[in-house]
Amino acid sequence: MIYFDKVSKIYPDQSVALDDVSFTIEPGQFTSVVGHSGAGKSTLLKMIIAEERPSAGKVFFDSTDIHKMSRRHIARLRRRIGTVFQDFRLLPAKNIFENVAFVMETAGRTEAEIASDVPYILDLVGLTPKISSFPSQLSSGERQRVAIARAIVNQPDLLLADEPTANLDPVNTFEIIEILCKINETGTTVLLTTHNKGVIDNLGKRVVTLENGKVTRDDKSGKYVL
Ligand code: ADP
Repeated sequence: MIYFDKVSKIYPDQSVALDDVSFTIEPGQFTSVVGHSGAGKSTLLKMIIAEERPSAGKVFFDSTDIHKMSRRHIARLRRRIGTVFQDFRLLPAKNIFENVAFVMETAGRTEAEIASDVPYILDLVGLTPKISSFPSQLSSGERQRVAIARAIVNQPDLLLADEPTANLDPVNTFEIIEILCKINETGTTVLLTTHNKGVIDNLGKRVVTLENGKVTRDDKSGKYVL
């Protein structure tokens, strides 16, 4: 589904974020990318949604070079990808139902679809009792669950989660990872970045390790080794 072919990224200030990175993600896989802060994890994800361009090398989505796509094609690609970030990025003036409904509206989904899918997806992430609450009334863990609901409600093929547990305590971290696993079990490919050793060691899934922009390990059922 995703193929990085000798990708390097040097920012204009000469920071080397990725250095000759090659790896493949198969459809349905759950992959964690681990590394210290500054290792290049966010840059790697930004390549996949065409927010950054490689300085060298190519990134493919289903055998199409992402950075040769037209704007319209990129817009279509982004609709196939759900994204979750460490800072949640919810709309503060909308309640939880409306936050999730909003992304369905922008994708052109019907009122009937919204009325049936939003409650379903909020139930999946365990937030039915909070459906009318506003983001400010939720805990950090609950806010992240809304962000995940929003990311998956349009049924993306790929879910990118960039340090989704960075601002969470261990209990909420565990719950968020459980939800990501549940989503993966329904067939969605998941790419998670984290610098949290505990998250990775309990997963027993593929771990790609980045150090100073280079892939230094790629383990099928990995542990965090740095
Ligand atoms: P991580 O997500 O692992 O913390 P990043 O991909 O954010 O790593 O950053 C990798 C390197 O690239 C770091 O040295 C960072 O300072 C640098 N970097 C990231 N974004 C930019 C940018 N927009 N401009 C210049 N340097 C950047």
